[in-house]
Amino acid sequence: MGFRDRGDRDRDGDEEFGGFGGLRGAPKTGKKCRSCDFVDYKDLATLRRYLSAQGKIQSRKRTNACAKCQRLVQRAVKRARFIGLLGFAG
Ligand SMILES: [Zn+2]
Repeated sequence: MGFRDRGDRDRDGDEEFGGFGGLRGAPKTGKKCRSCDFVDYKDLATLRRYLSAQGKIQSRKRTNACAKCQRLVQRAVKRARFIGLLGFAG
C-alpha cells in the first residue's frame, strides 16, 4: 500500500528497433532456383521433386522455385498427368 505508480515514461524505444526493421521478405540474392535451366514433362525425376507425397504440386515456399520456373513446373506436371506419367492429385 502506498506504492506510487511512477507510470511508464521509460518505455520508449525498446521494441521498435529490434530485429530487422523494415526488412521483409526474402533477401535479394542472385541465387537461381533448382530448375531455372529446364523443366521437361518427361523428366519425372525432376518433376517429383516438386510434388508432395500425395502427388500435388508443392507451393513455391516449399520448392524455392522462382515464378517462372513454378509456372513451367506446373505446366510440365499437368502435361505429365495428362499423358499418364503422373497420377492426379486426390
Ligand atoms: Zn527459376
